[in-house]
Amino acid sequence: MEKVVNLCKRRGFVFPSAEIYGGFRSTYDYGPIGVLLLRNVKDAWWRSMVQLRDDVVGIDAAILSPPPIWEASGHLENFHDPLVDCRECKERFRLDKLDDPDTCPNCGAKDSFTEPRQFNLMFKTHAGPIEEKAAEAYLRPETAQGMFTNFANVLNTSRKRPPFGIAQIGKSFRNEITPQNFVFRTREFEQMEMEYFVPPEQADEWYEYWCRERFSWYTDLGIPENQLRLRAHDPGELSHYSNATSDVEFMFPWGWDELEGIANRSDYDLTQHTKHSGEPLDYYDQATDTRYVPFVIEPAAGATRTAMAFLLAAYDEEEVRGEQRTVLRFNHRIAPYKVAVLPLSKKDELRPLAREVLSEVQPHWMADYDETQSIGRRYRRQDELGTPYCITIDFDSLDDNQVTVRERDSMEQDRIPVDDVVEYLRLRLGSV
Ligand code: ATP
Repeated sequence: MEKVVNLCKRRGFVFPSAEIYGGFRSTYDYGPIGVLLLRNVKDAWWRSMVQLRDDVVGIDAAILSPPPIWEASGHLENFHDPLVDCRECKERFRLDKLDDPDTCPNCGAKDSFTEPRQFNLMFKTHAGPIEEKAAEAYLRPETAQGMFTNFANVLNTSRKRPPFGIAQIGKSFRNEITPQNFVFRTREFEQMEMEYFVPPEQADEWYEYWCRERFSWYTDLGIPENQLRLRAHDPGELSHYSNATSDVEFMFPWGWDELEGIANRSDYDLTQHTKHSGEPLDYYDQATDTRYVPFVIEPAAGATRTAMAFLLAAYDEEEVRGEQRTVLRFNHRIAPYKVAVLPLSKKDELRPLAREVLSEVQPHWMADYDETQSIGRRYRRQDELGTPYCITIDFDSLDDNQVTVRERDSMEQDRIPVDDVVEYLRLRLGSV
Protein backbone atom coordinates (compact mmCIF):
# COMPACT_ATOMS: atom_id res chain seq x y z
CA MET A 1 0.00 0.00 0.00
CA GLU A 2 2.75 2.41 1.03
CA LYS A 3 4.63 1.65 -2.19
CA VAL A 4 1.59 2.45 -4.30
CA VAL A 5 0.91 5.68 -2.38
CA ASN A 6 4.55 6.74 -2.87
CA LEU A 7 4.45 5.91 -6.54
CA CYS A 8 1.25 7.92 -6.91
CA LYS A 9 2.95 10.99 -5.45
CA ARG A 10 6.28 10.48 -7.24
CA ARG A 11 4.80 9.97 -10.68
CA GLY A 12 1.91 12.42 -10.59
CA PHE A 13 -1.11 10.19 -10.03
CA VAL A 14 -2.44 11.63 -6.78
CA PHE A 15 -1.34 14.52 -4.58
CA PRO A 16 -2.68 15.48 -1.15
CA SER A 17 -4.97 18.43 -1.75
CA ALA A 18 -3.86 21.92 -0.64
CA GLU A 19 -0.47 20.44 0.15
CA ILE A 20 1.34 23.79 0.24
CA TYR A 21 -1.01 24.73 3.11
CA GLY A 22 -0.36 21.50 4.96
CA GLY A 23 -3.08 19.46 3.24
CA PHE A 24 -6.82 19.44 3.82
CA ARG A 25 -8.52 16.64 5.70
CA SER A 26 -8.20 13.58 3.48
CA THR A 27 -8.89 15.33 0.21
CA TYR A 28 -6.80 14.53 -2.83
CA ASP A 29 -6.02 16.02 -6.21
CA TYR A 30 -5.46 13.91 -9.30
CA GLY A 31 -2.27 14.89 -11.11
CA PRO A 32 -1.35 14.68 -14.82
CA ILE A 33 -1.25 10.86 -14.78
CA GLY A 34 -4.03 10.30 -12.25
CA VAL A 35 -6.49 12.39 -14.24
CA LEU A 36 -5.90 10.09 -17.23
CA LEU A 37 -6.30 6.97 -15.11
CA LEU A 38 -9.52 8.22 -13.54
CA ARG A 39 -10.89 9.30 -16.92
CA ASN A 40 -10.10 5.85 -18.36
CA VAL A 41 -11.92 4.14 -15.49
CA LYS A 42 -14.97 6.34 -16.08
CA ASP A 43 -14.79 5.94 -19.86
CA ALA A 44 -14.56 2.14 -19.52
CA TRP A 45 -17.64 2.18 -17.29
CA TRP A 46 -19.57 4.50 -19.63
CA ARG A 47 -18.59 2.41 -22.63
CA SER A 48 -19.85 -0.78 -21.04
CA MET A 49 -22.96 0.71 -19.38
CA VAL A 50 -24.13 3.21 -22.02
CA GLN A 51 -22.26 3.07 -25.31
CA LEU A 52 -22.49 -0.68 -25.88
CA ARG A 53 -26.17 -0.89 -24.90
CA ASP A 54 -29.36 0.41 -26.40
CA ASP A 55 -31.33 0.15 -23.16
CA VAL A 56 -29.36 2.68 -21.08
CA VAL A 57 -29.08 6.46 -21.49
CA GLY A 58 -26.97 8.92 -19.54
CA ILE A 59 -27.63 12.15 -17.64
CA ASP A 60 -25.57 14.67 -15.72
CA ALA A 61 -27.61 16.07 -12.85
CA ALA A 62 -26.87 18.93 -10.45
CA ILE A 63 -24.77 18.40 -7.35
CA LEU A 64 -26.61 21.04 -5.29
CA SER A 65 -30.07 19.88 -4.36
CA PRO A 66 -32.96 21.05 -2.19
CA PRO A 67 -33.99 19.36 1.10
CA PRO A 68 -37.25 17.81 -0.23
CA ILE A 69 -35.23 15.38 -2.38
CA TRP A 70 -33.38 14.12 0.69
CA GLU A 71 -36.54 14.08 2.74
CA ALA A 72 -38.14 11.83 0.11
CA SER A 73 -35.07 9.61 -0.39
CA GLY A 74 -34.82 8.97 3.35
CA HIS A 75 -31.33 10.46 3.62
CA LEU A 76 -32.31 13.18 6.11
CA GLU A 77 -33.72 10.54 8.40
CA ASN A 78 -31.52 7.54 7.72
CA PHE A 79 -28.17 8.55 6.28
CA HIS A 80 -26.36 8.34 9.58
CA ASP A 81 -23.27 6.63 10.81
CA PRO A 82 -22.92 5.70 14.49
CA LEU A 83 -20.06 7.74 15.88
CA VAL A 84 -18.09 6.90 19.05
CA ASP A 85 -15.21 8.74 20.74
CA CYS A 86 -12.47 7.08 22.73
CA ARG A 87 -12.40 8.77 26.16
CA GLU A 88 -8.69 7.94 26.51
CA CYS A 89 -7.10 9.11 23.26
CA LYS A 90 -10.01 11.25 21.98
CA GLU A 91 -9.97 9.55 18.56
CA ARG A 92 -13.31 9.22 16.78
CA PHE A 93 -14.56 6.06 15.03
CA ARG A 94 -17.48 4.61 13.12
CA LEU A 95 -18.87 1.98 15.45
CA ASP A 96 -20.03 -0.25 12.58
CA LYS A 97 -16.50 -0.39 11.12
CA LEU A 98 -14.69 -1.44 14.32
CA ASP A 99 -13.36 -5.02 14.45
CA ASP A 100 -13.88 -5.06 18.20
CA PRO A 101 -16.53 -2.57 19.42
CA ASP A 102 -15.06 -2.66 22.97
CA THR A 103 -11.43 -1.88 22.14
CA CYS A 104 -9.97 1.34 20.77
CA PRO A 105 -7.88 0.46 17.68
CA ASN A 106 -5.76 3.59 18.24
CA CYS A 107 -4.67 3.33 21.89
CA GLY A 108 -5.90 -0.17 22.79
CA ALA A 109 -8.05 1.10 25.72
CA LYS A 110 -10.89 -1.22 26.77
CA ASP A 111 -14.49 -0.02 27.16
CA SER A 112 -13.38 3.55 26.58
CA PHE A 113 -15.99 4.49 23.99
CA THR A 114 -18.73 7.05 24.49
CA GLU A 115 -22.34 6.09 23.71
CA PRO A 116 -22.80 6.07 19.92
CA ARG A 117 -24.21 9.27 18.43
CA GLN A 118 -25.95 9.27 15.05
CA PHE A 119 -24.15 11.56 12.67
CA ASN A 120 -25.74 12.63 9.37
CA LEU A 121 -23.23 12.38 6.55
CA MET A 122 -24.66 15.02 4.25
CA PHE A 123 -22.90 18.34 3.69
CA LYS A 124 -25.30 21.20 4.20
CA THR A 125 -24.86 24.62 2.62
CA HIS A 126 -26.94 27.63 1.65
CA ALA A 127 -28.00 28.64 -1.84
CA GLY A 128 -27.95 32.44 -2.14
CA PRO A 129 -26.60 35.18 0.07
CA ILE A 130 -28.69 34.63 3.19
CA GLU A 131 -27.99 31.76 5.51
CA GLU A 132 -31.59 31.05 6.42
CA LYS A 133 -33.60 27.84 6.68
CA ALA A 134 -35.39 28.46 3.37
CA ALA A 135 -32.05 28.67 1.55
CA GLU A 136 -30.72 25.34 2.83
CA ALA A 137 -29.31 22.99 0.23
CA TYR A 138 -27.27 19.80 0.29
CA LEU A 139 -24.33 18.53 -1.71
CA ARG A 140 -25.56 15.19 -3.02
CA PRO A 141 -24.21 12.18 -1.10
CA GLU A 142 -24.96 9.92 -4.09
CA THR A 143 -25.78 10.53 -7.74
CA ALA A 144 -28.78 8.18 -7.75
CA GLN A 145 -31.48 10.69 -6.82
CA GLY A 146 -30.84 12.68 -10.02
CA MET A 147 -31.91 9.62 -11.98
CA PHE A 148 -35.12 9.18 -9.97
CA THR A 149 -36.15 12.83 -10.09
CA ASN A 150 -35.60 12.81 -13.88
CA PHE A 151 -37.40 9.49 -14.44
CA ALA A 152 -40.41 11.09 -16.17
CA ASN A 153 -38.24 13.52 -18.17
CA VAL A 154 -36.14 10.69 -19.53
CA LEU A 155 -39.12 8.43 -20.15
CA ASN A 156 -40.87 11.20 -22.10
CA THR A 157 -37.89 12.19 -24.20
CA SER A 158 -35.80 9.07 -24.82
CA ARG A 159 -38.31 6.55 -26.20
CA LYS A 160 -37.07 3.99 -23.69
CA ARG A 161 -39.40 1.77 -21.73
CA PRO A 162 -38.79 -0.74 -18.95
CA PRO A 163 -36.49 -2.52 -18.77
CA PHE A 164 -34.24 0.48 -19.30
CA GLY A 165 -31.60 2.34 -17.36
CA ILE A 166 -30.32 5.84 -16.61
CA ALA A 167 -26.62 6.19 -15.91
CA GLN A 168 -24.57 8.95 -14.39
CA ILE A 169 -20.97 9.62 -13.38
CA GLY A 170 -20.21 12.46 -11.04
CA LYS A 171 -19.01 13.81 -7.74
CA SER A 172 -20.66 12.96 -4.47
CA PHE A 173 -19.95 14.25 -0.99
CA ARG A 174 -20.16 12.58 2.40
CA ASN A 175 -18.97 14.03 5.64
CA GLU A 176 -17.25 10.76 6.53
CA ILE A 177 -16.32 10.41 10.20
CA THR A 178 -13.16 8.49 9.45
CA PRO A 179 -11.91 9.07 5.92
CA GLN A 180 -9.03 6.69 5.47
CA ASN A 181 -6.87 4.43 3.35
CA PHE A 182 -5.74 6.97 0.79
CA VAL A 183 -8.52 7.56 -1.78
CA PHE A 184 -10.57 4.57 -0.59
CA ARG A 185 -12.77 6.68 1.66
CA THR A 186 -12.77 10.42 1.14
CA ARG A 187 -15.31 13.16 1.77
CA GLU A 188 -15.41 14.14 -1.89
CA PHE A 189 -15.37 11.30 -4.42
CA GLU A 190 -16.73 10.23 -7.76
CA GLN A 191 -19.43 7.67 -8.35
CA MET A 192 -20.61 5.72 -11.38
CA GLU A 193 -24.22 4.71 -10.86
CA MET A 194 -26.97 3.29 -12.99
CA GLU A 195 -30.64 2.91 -12.13
CA TYR A 196 -32.25 0.12 -14.13
CA PHE A 197 -36.08 0.33 -14.17
CA VAL A 198 -37.84 -3.00 -14.62
CA PRO A 199 -41.32 -4.52 -14.35
CA PRO A 200 -41.59 -5.68 -10.69
CA GLU A 201 -41.91 -9.35 -11.60
CA GLN A 202 -38.59 -9.19 -13.47
CA ALA A 203 -36.63 -7.60 -10.62
CA ASP A 204 -35.00 -10.77 -9.26
CA GLU A 205 -33.85 -11.85 -12.68
CA TRP A 206 -32.34 -8.45 -13.49
CA TYR A 207 -30.69 -8.27 -10.08
CA GLU A 208 -28.88 -11.54 -10.81
CA TYR A 209 -28.01 -10.28 -14.29
CA TRP A 210 -26.43 -7.05 -13.03
CA CYS A 211 -24.47 -8.86 -10.31
CA ARG A 212 -22.88 -11.05 -13.01
CA GLU A 213 -22.34 -8.17 -15.46
CA ARG A 214 -20.69 -5.94 -12.93
CA PHE A 215 -18.42 -8.64 -11.58
CA SER A 216 -17.11 -9.43 -15.05
CA TRP A 217 -16.54 -5.73 -15.82
CA TYR A 218 -13.67 -5.78 -13.29
CA THR A 219 -12.18 -9.07 -14.47
CA ASP A 220 -12.45 -8.05 -18.14
CA LEU A 221 -10.37 -5.00 -17.27
CA GLY A 222 -7.64 -7.06 -15.71
CA ILE A 223 -8.39 -7.44 -12.00
CA PRO A 224 -7.56 -11.08 -11.22
CA GLU A 225 -10.61 -13.11 -10.23
CA ASN A 226 -8.94 -14.30 -7.02
CA GLN A 227 -8.75 -10.67 -5.82
CA LEU A 228 -12.50 -10.15 -6.28
CA ARG A 229 -15.63 -11.58 -4.75
CA LEU A 230 -19.36 -10.98 -4.80
CA ARG A 231 -20.79 -10.90 -1.28
CA ALA A 232 -24.51 -10.88 -0.57
CA HIS A 233 -25.60 -8.67 2.36
CA ASP A 234 -27.14 -10.27 5.43
CA PRO A 235 -30.72 -9.11 6.02
CA GLY A 236 -29.57 -6.96 8.98
CA GLU A 237 -27.04 -5.16 6.82
CA LEU A 238 -29.46 -4.00 4.12
CA SER A 239 -30.04 -0.27 3.56
CA HIS A 240 -33.46 1.20 4.31
CA TYR A 241 -34.46 1.07 0.63
CA SER A 242 -33.11 -2.34 -0.34
CA ASN A 243 -34.52 -5.85 -0.33
CA ALA A 244 -31.37 -7.48 -1.74
CA THR A 245 -27.82 -6.18 -2.12
CA SER A 246 -24.53 -7.74 -3.13
CA ASP A 247 -21.17 -6.01 -2.99
CA VAL A 248 -18.34 -6.51 -5.42
CA GLU A 249 -15.39 -6.64 -3.05
CA PHE A 250 -11.69 -6.35 -3.76
CA MET A 251 -8.86 -7.77 -1.68
CA PHE A 252 -7.35 -4.49 -0.45
CA PRO A 253 -4.12 -4.57 1.58
CA TRP A 254 -6.29 -4.44 4.75
CA GLY A 255 -8.68 -7.20 3.60
CA TRP A 256 -11.88 -7.54 1.58
CA ASP A 257 -13.67 -4.25 1.09
CA GLU A 258 -16.37 -2.80 -1.14
CA LEU A 259 -15.88 -1.50 -4.68
CA GLU A 260 -19.50 -1.47 -5.71
CA GLY A 261 -22.94 -2.33 -4.41
CA ILE A 262 -25.65 -3.88 -6.57
CA ALA A 263 -29.05 -3.38 -4.97
CA ASN A 264 -32.64 -4.27 -5.66
CA ARG A 265 -34.19 -0.99 -4.47
CA SER A 266 -37.74 -2.19 -5.16
CA ASP A 267 -40.18 0.65 -6.00
CA TYR A 268 -39.00 2.60 -2.94
CA ASP A 269 -37.48 5.60 -4.69
CA LEU A 270 -40.12 6.27 -7.34
CA THR A 271 -42.89 5.78 -4.79
CA GLN A 272 -41.25 8.13 -2.31
CA HIS A 273 -40.69 10.86 -4.90
CA THR A 274 -44.27 10.49 -6.14
CA LYS A 275 -45.50 10.93 -2.56
CA HIS A 276 -43.31 13.92 -1.80
CA SER A 277 -43.49 15.77 -5.12
CA GLY A 278 -47.04 14.95 -6.12
CA GLU A 279 -45.80 13.97 -9.59
CA PRO A 280 -46.72 10.43 -10.67
CA LEU A 281 -43.55 8.48 -11.42
CA ASP A 282 -44.88 5.31 -12.97
CA TYR A 283 -45.17 3.61 -16.32
CA TYR A 284 -48.19 2.88 -18.46
CA ASP A 285 -47.69 -0.26 -20.50
CA GLN A 286 -49.90 0.06 -23.58
CA ALA A 287 -49.44 -3.56 -24.59
CA THR A 288 -51.04 -4.88 -21.42
CA ASP A 289 -53.04 -1.76 -20.53
CA THR A 290 -51.49 -1.69 -17.06
CA ARG A 291 -49.86 1.02 -15.02
CA TYR A 292 -47.12 0.14 -12.57
CA VAL A 293 -44.25 1.61 -10.59
CA PRO A 294 -41.05 0.02 -11.89
CA PHE A 295 -38.62 -1.68 -9.53
CA VAL A 296 -35.05 -0.44 -9.65
CA ILE A 297 -31.86 -2.47 -9.84
CA GLU A 298 -28.90 -0.25 -9.04
CA PRO A 299 -25.23 -1.02 -9.65
CA ALA A 300 -23.43 1.77 -7.72
CA ALA A 301 -19.65 1.95 -8.04
CA GLY A 302 -17.01 4.43 -6.90
CA ALA A 303 -14.76 5.75 -9.67
CA THR A 304 -12.01 6.96 -7.36
CA ARG A 305 -12.12 3.81 -5.23
CA THR A 306 -12.06 1.65 -8.34
CA ALA A 307 -9.09 3.58 -9.76
CA MET A 308 -7.26 2.71 -6.55
CA ALA A 309 -8.13 -0.98 -6.95
CA PHE A 310 -6.81 -0.92 -10.52
CA LEU A 311 -3.57 0.63 -9.24
CA LEU A 312 -3.16 -1.97 -6.50
CA ALA A 313 -3.97 -4.88 -8.81
CA ALA A 314 -1.59 -3.62 -11.51
CA TYR A 315 1.38 -2.98 -9.22
CA ASP A 316 4.23 -5.43 -9.70
CA GLU A 317 7.93 -5.63 -8.94
CA GLU A 318 10.42 -7.94 -10.58
CA GLU A 319 14.15 -8.34 -10.97
CA VAL A 320 15.55 -7.71 -14.43
CA ARG A 321 19.24 -8.30 -15.01
CA GLY A 322 20.06 -7.72 -11.38
CA GLU A 323 17.95 -4.58 -11.14
CA GLN A 324 14.57 -4.05 -9.55
CA ARG A 325 11.82 -3.05 -11.96
CA THR A 326 8.48 -1.63 -10.83
CA VAL A 327 5.74 -1.94 -13.38
CA LEU A 328 2.03 -1.20 -13.45
CA ARG A 329 0.51 -3.95 -15.56
CA PHE A 330 -2.65 -2.06 -16.43
CA ASN A 331 -5.11 -3.35 -18.96
CA HIS A 332 -4.64 -1.25 -22.12
CA ARG A 333 -7.99 0.47 -21.64
CA ILE A 334 -7.04 1.61 -18.13
CA ALA A 335 -3.39 2.60 -18.82
CA PRO A 336 -3.01 6.42 -18.57
CA TYR A 337 -0.72 6.71 -21.60
CA LYS A 338 -0.95 4.06 -24.31
CA VAL A 339 2.29 5.07 -26.01
CA ALA A 340 5.48 6.96 -25.18
CA VAL A 341 7.69 8.43 -27.88
CA LEU A 342 11.32 8.49 -26.78
CA PRO A 343 14.12 9.85 -28.99
CA LEU A 344 17.29 8.04 -27.92
CA SER A 345 19.11 11.29 -27.27
CA LYS A 346 18.26 14.93 -26.87
CA LYS A 347 20.33 15.78 -29.94
CA ASP A 348 18.56 18.00 -32.45
CA GLU A 349 18.89 15.51 -35.35
CA LEU A 350 16.46 13.04 -33.78
CA ARG A 351 13.79 15.54 -32.85
CA PRO A 352 12.04 16.02 -36.24
CA LEU A 353 11.47 12.31 -36.80
CA ALA A 354 10.47 11.76 -33.16
CA ARG A 355 7.92 14.57 -33.37
CA GLU A 356 6.63 13.17 -36.64
CA VAL A 357 6.02 9.79 -34.96
CA LEU A 358 4.35 11.58 -32.04
CA SER A 359 1.95 13.43 -34.32
CA GLU A 360 1.14 10.14 -36.09
CA VAL A 361 0.03 8.45 -32.86
CA GLN A 362 -1.53 11.40 -31.01
CA PRO A 363 -4.86 11.44 -32.89
CA HIS A 364 -5.40 7.79 -31.94
CA TRP A 365 -4.02 7.37 -28.43
CA MET A 366 -2.91 9.37 -25.43
CA ALA A 367 0.85 9.64 -25.90
CA ASP A 368 3.73 10.91 -23.78
CA TYR A 369 6.88 12.47 -25.22
CA ASP A 370 10.11 12.41 -23.25
CA GLU A 371 13.64 13.20 -24.36
CA THR A 372 15.51 13.72 -21.12
CA GLN A 373 17.65 11.21 -19.15
CA SER A 374 19.05 7.87 -20.26
CA ILE A 375 16.77 5.60 -22.24
CA GLY A 376 16.90 3.01 -19.43
CA ARG A 377 15.56 5.49 -16.90
CA ARG A 378 12.88 6.62 -19.30
CA TYR A 379 11.75 3.01 -19.81
CA ARG A 380 11.60 2.61 -16.02
CA ARG A 381 9.48 5.74 -15.76
CA GLN A 382 7.04 4.53 -18.41
CA ASP A 383 6.89 1.12 -16.67
CA GLU A 384 5.85 2.92 -13.49
CA LEU A 385 3.16 4.79 -15.38
CA GLY A 386 1.97 1.52 -16.92
CA THR A 387 2.50 2.66 -20.54
CA PRO A 388 2.01 -0.42 -22.77
CA TYR A 389 4.28 0.67 -25.66
CA CYS A 390 7.43 2.79 -25.94
CA ILE A 391 8.68 3.88 -29.35
CA THR A 392 12.37 4.71 -29.55
CA ILE A 393 13.88 6.75 -32.34
CA ASP A 394 17.66 6.27 -32.68
CA PHE A 395 20.34 7.41 -35.11
CA ASP A 396 19.78 4.40 -37.39
CA SER A 397 16.15 5.53 -37.70
CA LEU A 398 17.37 8.52 -39.68
CA ASP A 399 18.83 6.14 -42.31
CA ASP A 400 16.37 3.24 -42.38
CA ASN A 401 13.21 5.11 -41.30
CA GLN A 402 12.55 2.40 -38.71
CA VAL A 403 11.86 2.66 -34.98
CA THR A 404 12.01 0.28 -32.03
CA VAL A 405 8.79 -0.56 -30.21
CA ARG A 406 9.13 -1.99 -26.69
CA GLU A 407 6.28 -3.81 -24.99
CA ARG A 408 5.82 -3.10 -21.28
CA ASP A 409 5.22 -6.56 -19.81
CA SER A 410 7.57 -8.76 -21.84
CA MET A 411 10.04 -5.92 -22.57
CA GLU A 412 10.38 -7.46 -26.02
CA GLN A 413 11.34 -5.12 -28.81
CA ASP A 414 10.33 -4.99 -32.47
CA ARG A 415 11.97 -2.94 -35.18
CA ILE A 416 9.33 -1.59 -37.55
CA PRO A 417 9.05 1.03 -40.33
CA VAL A 418 7.75 4.43 -39.23
CA ASP A 419 4.93 4.08 -41.75
CA ASP A 420 3.69 0.94 -39.97
CA VAL A 421 3.62 2.37 -36.43
CA VAL A 422 -0.08 3.22 -36.31
CA GLU A 423 -1.14 -0.10 -37.83
CA TYR A 424 1.22 -2.02 -35.50
CA LEU A 425 -0.29 -0.31 -32.45
CA ARG A 426 -3.83 -0.58 -33.72
CA LEU A 427 -3.47 -4.36 -33.91
CA ARG A 428 -2.29 -4.47 -30.31
CA LEU A 429 -4.17 -1.61 -28.64
CA GLY A 430 -7.34 -1.59 -30.71
CA SER A 431 -9.48 1.51 -30.22
CA VAL A 432 -8.76 2.08 -26.53
P1 ATP B 1 -19.18 2.25 2.68
O1 ATP B 1 -19.89 1.12 3.37
O2 ATP B 1 -17.77 1.91 2.24
O3 ATP B 1 -19.26 3.56 3.40
P2 ATP B 1 -21.50 2.51 1.07
O4 ATP B 1 -22.02 1.12 1.09
O5 ATP B 1 -22.12 3.56 1.90
O6 ATP B 1 -19.92 2.50 1.28
P3 ATP B 1 -22.68 3.20 -1.43
O7 ATP B 1 -23.61 4.19 -0.86
O8 ATP B 1 -23.21 1.88 -1.85
O9 ATP B 1 -21.44 3.00 -0.44
O10 ATP B 1 -21.89 3.90 -2.63
C1 ATP B 1 -21.55 3.22 -3.81
C2 ATP B 1 -20.06 3.25 -4.03
O11 ATP B 1 -19.55 4.58 -3.93
C3 ATP B 1 -19.23 2.46 -3.02
O12 ATP B 1 -19.20 1.10 -3.35
C4 ATP B 1 -17.87 3.09 -3.16
O13 ATP B 1 -17.16 2.55 -4.28
C5 ATP B 1 -18.21 4.53 -3.45
N1 ATP B 1 -18.08 5.31 -2.22
C6 ATP B 1 -19.00 5.47 -1.23
N2 ATP B 1 -18.52 6.26 -0.27
C7 ATP B 1 -17.27 6.63 -0.63
C8 ATP B 1 -16.25 7.46 -0.05
N3 ATP B 1 -16.46 8.09 1.10
N4 ATP B 1 -15.08 7.60 -0.71
C9 ATP B 1 -14.88 6.99 -1.91
N5 ATP B 1 -15.79 6.21 -2.50
C10 ATP B 1 -16.97 6.02 -1.89
